[in-house]
Order: sequence, then C-alpha cells, then structure tokens
Amino acid sequence: MSTCPNCRTGTLHPRTVNYANWHGGQYVIVPNLPAWSCDVCALCRVDSEALQRLLPLIGPVTPPDPTQPRRAVAAKLAVGEQPHDETDPDRDRRAV
Ligand SMILES: [Zn+2]
Repeated sequence: MSTCPNCRTGTLHPRTVNYANWHGGQYVIVPNLPAWSCDVCALCRVDSEALQRLLPLIGPVTPPDPTQPRRAVAAKLAVGEQPHDETDPDRDRRAV
C-alpha cells in the first residue's frame, strides 16, 4: 500500500474494476482488472502492471470511432433490418 499521489493523505488499496476504453477502433470492456483506489479522495487507477500485460493483447488506446453504431441503437433493430449508414449523405434518397 502507498500514499495517494492525488490527495497525499489517503492510502491506496487494491481492488478490481471494469475497464472500458477504445482500443484499435473497437470499444473494449475488461471486467475485474486489478486497480488501486484511495480511501480518502476516491482516486482509482488501473494497476500499471496489469495494463502493461493487457495492452499487447487489445492494442493501443485510440479515439472513439463515431462511425461505429451504438449498441443501444443496434438492439432496437428488428431481425434482418440494417442500421443506416451515417456517413452516406444519400441514405434517405435510396430508401424511396
Ligand atoms: Zn487520495
């Protein structure tokens, strides 16, 4: 255990977190990743060793990809229905 680098008062305790971020253009969720949290200011950081082992598997952090459909939108589609292409400026014309 070590002193919190944020508040310099609390102590960092081990815990697990659900890590979620964009890697290689994909939204990746990793459950139960080792992390450290402060008992005073609630700072929470993913364990650097665990992250170093994970990054070669899932690739580098990338900015969010706005062309990827959101899961909530895709879940509303009926079977066989295709989500419309936001990047296609003529998508309304083709539907007629
Ligand atoms: Zn703290």
